[in-house]
Amino acid sequence: MAAVSFMIPQMQDALKQPERWNSEWENTIRNMERRFTPSALVNSLALTFAAQPLRRDASLREHQTILSNLCRTQAILTATAGTYFAGANLEERWMKASPDLRGKHILIGLSSACSIARNLHDARVYCGRELTLSHLRSDGRTVLELLKAVLLPEVAMPEEPKLLPHPAWDAFAAVQARGSPNDSEKYALASILTLRTKLICHVIHATLNSFVGVELPTVAVAKYNKKNNPGEPFLGREFGKSVVEGMLGVAGAKAQAKENKAAWKERQRGRTEHCSYGGCSKANDGSAKFSRCKTCWDNMQREILYCSAECQKADWKPQHKSICGKPLTFEAVSKPPPPIPPPSKPAPQIGPAVGNYERSPSLVYQIGWLNLNPKLDYVVRGGAEGTNLDFPDPEAQALFRQCREKAMTTGDKQSIAIMAHFICWMTLDKPRFHLAAIVEQLKKEYVFDELPRAIHEMQQRQNKDPFRRPPLLAPMSPQNWVNFCKGMNVNRQVVLEL
Ligand SMILES: [Zn+2]
Ligand SMILES: [Zn+2]
Repeated sequence: MAAVSFMIPQMQDALKQPERWNSEWENTIRNMERRFTPSALVNSLALTFAAQPLRRDASLREHQTILSNLCRTQAILTATAGTYFAGANLEERWMKASPDLRGKHILIGLSSACSIARNLHDARVYCGRELTLSHLRSDGRTVLELLKAVLLPEVAMPEEPKLLPHPAWDAFAAVQARGSPNDSEKYALASILTLRTKLICHVIHATLNSFVGVELPTVAVAKYNKKNNPGEPFLGREFGKSVVEGMLGVAGAKAQAKENKAAWKERQRGRTEHCSYGGCSKANDGSAKFSRCKTCWDNMQREILYCSAECQKADWKPQHKSICGKPLTFEAVSKPPPPIPPPSKPAPQIGPAVGNYERSPSLVYQIGWLNLNPKLDYVVRGGAEGTNLDFPDPEAQALFRQCREKAMTTGDKQSIAIMAHFICWMTLDKPRFHLAAIVEQLKKEYVFDELPRAIHEMQQRQNKDPFRRPPLLAPMSPQNWVNFCKGMNVNRQVVLEL
């Protein structure tokens, strides 16, 4: 079979003439869909790949880099989406917006995401109708569902990216897996699935940023410019930063941000020269020549560059030794390289979701904060400002955390109700908390519309307790309870509109 070919729009038009650029794309996509199936696209790429032995090695290495970038992109998107869902009321606002307004932001999302890099721009070929304006704008749910499909189950750097499902691509992948694909075919499919997911993540990210009213990202970790955005307080970028810091440490995150910027500038100039040691990956600023690994160059014309002898030595045992001078296999690059140095992850506060429980973006966001701040019992927003709950009594705290764990890992309605009632009851006489806002937040986090009624039932249970303990503290001995509620009005009640 011959390689398929077609004209695609010019990347440089994306930002200059977005509307024209986009309608050219939509024409291309319509024409393509009639002519090319996933199998034709994969085979075509596999043929090109197999026909260029010199590019082969570079393509495999690039694939692995794209995999790690996608992991980072998804961790940051998950954190940002959490802020938007939980704090900026994104879901309701997006659903209420008119298709015209949504379309305006989607076009900005498309054109800015496609301007990040050539391979992302061209990956629109692999997205077909999924990324056409008319498809994305008419029903608000389309973008939200795409977003949910690429969000990670927790705010942390994953070991592997989460690829966006798609019926035709998934069917083709199943067919390929049943056969005995060679490395070219495996590479071609994996690279297409990675790039299309990456493009879609960037389109969604840029669309939502535009909609929420913040600057567009040019690099993965960008500075938030307060001057340009005097409006709402913006947690997303800050949170993205704290995620990266959690993963890499403060110094590591700074270096990473610098590297991203340098790498981006390098890409803009069409050349990349980086130290190959993952713990360094310094870009060559031209002040000194990087030396290359001689064996790799002599055997494979593979350019492995190091900024220093120290980096070359550090890279040898954990990484380079296994591939030095030998052709790369698809297997060797089919996962992102392990991070160097391995992240010193604090033990997560909340376990992973159990069974089929699917967490809402707002809940993922809440858990992200709790994992970053082990002292916190709950992050309550709404009202005048976000306020953190930290229960000082050790027994009450232990009971709360036990209940919280069950609610957050299984979505157990009873546990959610007990926990929610306790949060409401404890904050009742504190003016900085706003009862209705707390209930709204919890409803959203647990996708639990009947929560007010469930809280009401818990209040009735408390009223029936001879000591008036809230259900969460029912296991507490009367003596401890007396100590716990010293100075509190135990007769206060959570009253909600039902
Ligand atoms: Zn180095
Ligand atoms: Zn080598």
